[in-house]
Amino acid sequence: MRTVEIDEGSGFCFGVVNAIQSAEKELTIDKELYCLGDIVHNSQEVARLQKKGLRTINHEDLKNMHNKRVLLRAHGEPPSTYEIAEKNSIRIIDATCPVVLQLQKKILKQYKEMNPIDSQIVIFGKSGHAEVNGLVGQTDGKAIVIEKITDLNLLDFNKNIYLFSQTTMSVDDFKEIVAEIQMRIHKNVNFRYFDTICRQVANRIPHIREFAARHDLILFVAGKKSSNGKVLLAECIKANANTHLISNPDDINPQWLKNVQSVGVCGATSTPKWLMEEVARKYDK
Ligand code: SF4
Repeated sequence: MRTVEIDEGSGFCFGVVNAIQSAEKELTIDKELYCLGDIVHNSQEVARLQKKGLRTINHEDLKNMHNKRVLLRAHGEPPSTYEIAEKNSIRIIDATCPVVLQLQKKILKQYKEMNPIDSQIVIFGKSGHAEVNGLVGQTDGKAIVIEKITDLNLLDFNKNIYLFSQTTMSVDDFKEIVAEIQMRIHKNVNFRYFDTICRQVANRIPHIREFAARHDLILFVAGKKSSNGKVLLAECIKANANTHLISNPDDINPQWLKNVQSVGVCGATSTPKWLMEEVARKYDK
């Protein structure tokens, strides 16, 4: 008989729980509620909240809206979003994760203290990701975003460097970036780095590696846009090559289950528990 286990450590982090609880609470007050961007990188959870009334809008929609209630999700927003809301009499329900909020403040403080002529703020993260846009916005758009080691060519190693990280990046990759900058930076300038990676993701890595290694097959449930999903999926694959990314139970290829005795179901910080339970129920036979 096949066994199916759901990873206890997978599922929403407190930042996502907080955003979803805020949305559900506001929807009980009034059914007309807008969210700037998908509330979470998971289309099933977005659809569940849509049924309750939550509508997703983009930044263009926001500019054309007046006198509405708009929820800001855990990723956070740049100052320009708050300015538009004020101008358009939009009531903001701010569900920015406290960890992201702290990071925004840190970057803003550094930006105000430094001279842009001889210093640069660098953000290790995914260019265009909502959280990164919010971080870059603290620097009037001047921060340099690097996604990988080769992007370091964008930096001027004769100027001071202040390095921060998007909250969901890999700690090992961040260390590699730090080591490379230390090697290349001119000796007469400063290099300061701030490990601003959220431990809600990083602390899950040792556990998810061990979980993935003790099953024959791993079904990793996550939306394709989830940044932390990519990091955690990569760790699962390292520990167990028989790992598959799925977004819902219908994505499973029955061939994967051939000769499989134990199935592990896990996911990202944006994966709802109920969805992992649906996956497990379908294949717990
Ligand atoms: S991963 Fe961390 S920073 Fe991101 S929403 Fe969750 S708790 Fe907040």
